[in-house]
Amino acid sequence: MARLELNKLTKRYGEFYAARDVSLDVEQGEFLVLLGPSGCGKTTTLRMIAGFVEPTAGSVKIGGRDVTMLPPWKRNTGLVFQNYALFPHLTVGQNVAFGLEMRKVGKAEIDEKVVEALKLVRLDHLIDRLPRQLSGGQQQRVALARALAFRPDVLLLDEPLSNLDAKLRNEVRVEIRSLQQRLGITAVMVTHDQEEALTMADRLVVMRDGGIRQIGSQQDLYERPADHFVADFVGRSSFLSGTMTGEDLKTPGGLTIRCAKSISGPAVVALRPERVFVGSEPIGGTDNAFQGEVEFVSYLGGMIDIHVRLSPDDHVIAQVPNHDTALPEVGDTVHVGWAATSAVFPADADLRE
Ligand code: ATP
Repeated sequence: MARLELNKLTKRYGEFYAARDVSLDVEQGEFLVLLGPSGCGKTTTLRMIAGFVEPTAGSVKIGGRDVTMLPPWKRNTGLVFQNYALFPHLTVGQNVAFGLEMRKVGKAEIDEKVVEALKLVRLDHLIDRLPRQLSGGQQQRVALARALAFRPDVLLLDEPLSNLDAKLRNEVRVEIRSLQQRLGITAVMVTHDQEEALTMADRLVVMRDGGIRQIGSQQDLYERPADHFVADFVGRSSFLSGTMTGEDLKTPGGLTIRCAKSISGPAVVALRPERVFVGSEPIGGTDNAFQGEVEFVSYLGGMIDIHVRLSPDDHVIAQVPNHDTALPEVGDTVHVGWAATSAVFPADADLRE
């Protein structure tokens, strides 16, 4: 168990930066998730922590010790990778023993630690099975036991659940998280699945193009996204873009949207669907009230999404609880409204449709 510190960690391939100046601290016992679209540098960062990729610049410290130049097996990190499969010809017990043997632990101690680790993931009764005799979820739990058996300082997980079906993914997710908390292990996980990230992390790091865009709790990212990209990537938003005059954003579709702050140049308002009010009467008491036409209604069980077209260029989604009352139908005229305090950002040119 230890604190992990990354200082300006950088990996360059020729002129291309796979990761650039990645600096962050992971507290002892914290579960940190690296989140971002494909190619943003998450895996490269994790592999530099593990020691499989040599950084071009920067440092990695585990428990205050600089490990930047140490090979993977001298870092005391436990790894669970999507493709870090179990050895097919070794039993469950032998697979879990592998990391301990590498570390030259004595035979009696290995036996004890293997059983202990398998008990943690509730698979000690399958100790003599071969991997092919296990389900996908069980195999991934064995991989977790193998990573935990030698009590690593830091647990590193790279998309550990992506090969599992939705139900198993949920189960193993809860299992990993509760074990990590119970053992107080410092953990870093890579995922591009935002639901997974949001449900497992103590803190999240959103990456893009090799760099960090925002670090924070789920609430920080959802309520106070740093920019257009984070608002787009974390949670759902409807974006209305245009140019600002004072605190008014004028859209090409002819709407004037009142905002709580002014931004120069092209700007976007980001509206979370549950913060958009919708009704058959004009919405009173809001800074922004418009009329539009229902374009699509999507039934999500407990919630309903109502897609409303406000102009040929502007549309918003309002999410309402499913209260078993009559829903608007496609083609109906409805009223929508939202607060001026909704997030507004400089428009990110790369994100425009
Ligand atoms: P994914 O979710 O798809 O796994 P990622 O965020 O983990 O993506 P990385 O694997 O870290 O992304 O890769 C970051 C960038 O670095 C990518 O554009 C990738 O093509 C590039 N890259 C990774 N390894 C190498 C390499 N050995 N040589 C050249 N470029 C590389």
